[in-house]
Amino acid sequence: MAHVVLRNLVKTYGPHTAVNNVSLTVNDGEFVALVGPSGCGKTTTLNLVAGLIPITSGDISIGDRVVNDVDPKNRDIAMVFQNYALYPQKTVYKNLAFPLQMRRLPRDEIDRKVKEAARVLDMTHLLERKPRELSGGQQQRVALGRALVRDPAVFLMDEPLSNLDAKLRVQMRSEIKRFHQDLEATIIYVTHDQLEAVTMADKMAVMNGGFLQQYDSPAQVFNHPVNMFVASFIGSPAMSLIPLEASSANGRTVLTGEEGWSIELSPHNARKVERSTTKKVVLGARHSTIKLSTSPVPGAIPAKAYTVEPTGDITFVQALLSGAVVNISVPPTMPVAPDQPIWLEFDQERMHLFDGATEMALE
Ligand code: ATP
Repeated sequence: MAHVVLRNLVKTYGPHTAVNNVSLTVNDGEFVALVGPSGCGKTTTLNLVAGLIPITSGDISIGDRVVNDVDPKNRDIAMVFQNYALYPQKTVYKNLAFPLQMRRLPRDEIDRKVKEAARVLDMTHLLERKPRELSGGQQQRVALGRALVRDPAVFLMDEPLSNLDAKLRVQMRSEIKRFHQDLEATIIYVTHDQLEAVTMADKMAVMNGGFLQQYDSPAQVFNHPVNMFVASFIGSPAMSLIPLEASSANGRTVLTGEEGWSIELSPHNARKVERSTTKKVVLGARHSTIKLSTSPVPGAIPAKAYTVEPTGDITFVQALLSGAVVNISVPPTMPVAPDQPIWLEFDQERMHLFDGATEMALE
């Protein structure tokens, strides 16, 4: 396997910049997810690494080789696409063997590699079937197998699970993760599904508008988002982002909401606000870090339940605070109904603070 380095990668289409100065290193054997909303540039980035489209500027290295001008077929990569791209008339065996025949490998070596890939992916019993005789998950496994037989330095995967139903997607998620662990493969994986990225990847590259926003482990991205975009994109339901007014007097720093309520910040949080000198502070809170009470609590913020969504083992309550929608999770046994008065407390240890003007996390 190999490492992959992108240096100041740019791709423009006329006046539009699809990939804007992206630099990152994928270490040997690492699983990296490129994640972000539709149009953020993740597929373009993957296609640049694959060599399917020419770069505008910057460099791409695979292993120790700069591959900017290397043909896709000589980049030592294998791609897995969302539509599987299997040959419908060929059996699974022949689908797997075909890329090796194109490389003119000896027949017994092809046979060995095909059978080994089928064993790794647990599809030996499917080798004589045609794609139409397979389920979506099995077809996806064949697509993985076809990448695997090529023994590439890097696997590039573009939304490989997006055509599967929700249940199968979860199952294949574990299979691809297992595939990565067993083979210690270097994988770059494009997805718009943040949950897929969080559960599978060693590192996630969160993109927006062509820019790389944050590149770190899922835990770091989840717990320490660098800006409001990352904070709201990662996590479901989304982190609540509440615009507030900061003020400091007599050694106290408070955040005040539109409705007039205020929170006195802990010394740690107060220091962040004071260091930034901004007055417009956005409070970020994940649903599980907000405590909801159905009767008044001293110091808690009065609000009103807006919607109540039971999901089985957890109930989500939405409220409006300072013009923002706030998501809170409560046990299903808690009696909350729409329009009911509620009281909210934010966990100061786990709250996030952002500069309302720059949208960057306060440090
Ligand atoms: P999705 O999840 O919808 O596939 P994405 O993050 O993969 O989105 P890209 O396909 O990389 O996004 O596209 C990034 C931007 O570049 C988009 O604004 C897109 O419209 C634009 N773009 C992509 N390919 C071309 C092209 N061939 N010509 C012009 N613009 C393009």
